[in-house]
Amino acid sequence: MRIHPIIAGNWKMNFTPSESEVFVGKCRNMLLDIERSQVIFCPPFTGLERAKNALQGSTHGLGAQNCHWESKGAYTGEISLEMLIDIGVQYVIAGHSERRHIFNESDSWINRKVKAILNADLTPILCIGETLEERNSGKTEQVIQTQLNQGLNGVPDISGIIIAYEPVWAIGTGVTATPGQAGEAHAIIRQTIRSIFGADNVDALRILYGGSVKPDNAEALIEIPGVDGFLIGGASLKAEDFSDIAHIVEHKYLRN
Ligand code: PEP
Repeated sequence: MRIHPIIAGNWKMNFTPSESEVFVGKCRNMLLDIERSQVIFCPPFTGLERAKNALQGSTHGLGAQNCHWESKGAYTGEISLEMLIDIGVQYVIAGHSERRHIFNESDSWINRKVKAILNADLTPILCIGETLEERNSGKTEQVIQTQLNQGLNGVPDISGIIIAYEPVWAIGTGVTATPGQAGEAHAIIRQTIRSIFGADNVDALRILYGGSVKPDNAEALIEIPGVDGFLIGGASLKAEDFSDIAHIVEHKYLRN
């Protein structure tokens, strides 16, 4: 089965609503020939609506960076899935390492989010990955397995979920995982998913790599078996870089 790759841009806390609209419009013009890959823009909440306007009539996707699992109520500062759906959001990132480490989100919170996103018929992008300390103490496999087992606890099947492997030490640092490290982690993820859900649907699962992806390393990273696209932070804020990475991914798909 051929898997269509994904290039997702996580803007984090960057771009005002007007900048979001202009930026998406600019990227759109640069991505006109991207037909096989799914491009996803993930602006901050405030930029979603303007980004959506700029995406009218295109096949690119719109993603949110976070959500709350409850549908409404006394949760000051939070955003529900119903609100995101009303704007036209299709994807929601859950468990990004900045949410885990800066905002202390636990696996159990992330699990509630994943289930709520699925119940809302949206697609979760579940981020997992080890810290440098965990890697150096030989715990990478265990961390990946725990984050998957707990993050996906009670989820009936894996179809409709995207996983992003993002080693914490590679996010925003300029350091990328070597092909060996990324390939090994992606294989562990696929094996763990197989053991949780059985072999069905695992072939269709898309596992993205994230962590300092740039135009000059994207070629090598997309060649790694089991890497089905990228979740991109810093380089997704530069239209030229984001477009170059998307073209590298698209060309790899067309070549195979
Ligand atoms: C991210 O925030 O998901 C990310 C991978 O960031 P960067 O590409 O900047 O490392």
